[in-house]
Amino acid sequence: MDMDNQYFEWQKISSIPISALQHYIYCPRQFALIHIEEIYEENVFTIQGNIVHKRVDNEKNYYNKDKKVENSLPLWSEKYGLYGVADTVEFEGDKIIPVEFKSGKKKKKLADDIQLAAQAICLEEMFSKEITSGYIYYDKSRKRREVVLDEKLRKKLTDTISSVRELLISKNTPQPVNDQRCNNCSLKDYCLPDLAGRIENYLKELK
Ligand code: SF4
Repeated sequence: MDMDNQYFEWQKISSIPISALQHYIYCPRQFALIHIEEIYEENVFTIQGNIVHKRVDNEKNYYNKDKKVENSLPLWSEKYGLYGVADTVEFEGDKIIPVEFKSGKKKKKLADDIQLAAQAICLEEMFSKEITSGYIYYDKSRKRREVVLDEKLRKKLTDTISSVRELLISKNTPQPVNDQRCNNCSLKDYCLPDLAGRIENYLKELK
């Protein structure tokens, strides 16, 4: 491997996009297809998500007497080797509150909580302040859900960062999960999650 490629590989392992953590939590194979094999495909769910984020990106930052709101704030953490962009961060008195926008209805999902927690640890490092909670705002139901940044969620986050880094180093794309997650996955046509089962059935029919 030449020096340029070595540097590129080192960069990939040392600075991980926050979105990669979500992909890993959703399905480790999806993470590997996107971030190791560099395959990406849109579907209706990714397009809906992009539309909501674009709308938030176009919102202006604003201030009122109690609150300052920053949209599309770049984030990074040297300690954890993470980077990304926060949809919205509210600064209220001494409090810093990250708010992530999602296209669906109000529904608890671990991948969303991990994303918000990753944003929070970046903000803690950037502003040297502890963050105790944030919100996920659901565009369809127009409701927001509080996410408390407790020890359990922080531990899950650091475990996820370690697992993602291990997978980036090993470059071993995991086997398909082949469950209900595949129905909403934009990479289904590349992944072929039911291929092994189809081959098995085919071989059975030949006997
Ligand atoms: S199709 Fe299923 S197994 Fe394949 S990447 Fe998507 S969720 Fe994972």
